[in-house]
Parts: sequence; C-alpha cells; structure tokens
Amino acid sequence: MDDENSTTTENDGICRATRADGQRCTVRALADGYCFAHSPSTEDKRREARSQGGQNKGTPARADRLLPRDLRPLLGLLIRAMTEVHTGAITPQQGTAMSSIASSVVKMLGIVELEARMSQIEKDLSDGHAS
Ligand SMILES: [Zn+2]
Repeated sequence: MDDENSTTTENDGICRATRADGQRCTVRALADGYCFAHSPSTEDKRREARSQGGQNKGTPARADRLLPRDLRPLLGLLIRAMTEVHTGAITPQQGTAMSSIASSVVKMLGIVELEARMSQIEKDLSDGHAS
C-alpha cells in the first residue's frame, strides 16, 4: 500500500479549512487551527461585517465621510473581496478585475469632481469678484 501523506497534514501550522474552489487554504493558522478568514472564533465578526456591508457600517466613519457618496458601497465591496480572494470564495482574477474596475471608477469620479469644482470656482470668479 502507498503510505503517502494522506492525512498527516493536520497540525502543520497551516489553516485546515478547504476553500470554495476545493483547494486547501494555504494561510498560516491561528491557535485554533484555522486562519483568520476561516476561524470559527472570528466567524461572528465576519458575519456581522458582511450583514452591515450594504449599510456602510462596516467601514470606519471617518473614511466614509471623506469618500464621495457614490464610492461608499464600493469600499465595502472591495474590502469584502479581499477576504473572498483570501478564502477562495472568488478567484484572484476576479479580485484583480474588481480592483481594476474600481480604480477606473475612482479616476473618473475624480475627474468629474475636479471639473465640478473648477466650474464652481470659475462661476464664483465671474459672479462677484470681477467688479
Ligand atoms: Zn484559511
């Protein structure tokens, strides 16, 4: 019989969980044998973060205020995507695509916002201060 290491990987310091794609998680484990993303001890926190994701409560209030309103849901989505890539719920390629689309959106909104500020300044200049 082959005596290959079939179930000898139990306590090698690596997370014991299996990812959504069927591969074993490769992340260093915490004390309970699972990494942060898979640990049952952090499950409550993660579920809480997930359920609040749509309401922006998961992101710090300060960062939230600095973000344009349109970008706020995006932040939660991207932060969640990091964990999802980590756990294998989505592929790294999907994560990369999300991040690339997100940065295009950010760039565009930045330009739009700049345009809006510029025309406000131009308007202010021609309105009052020309006299
Ligand atoms: Zn894991």
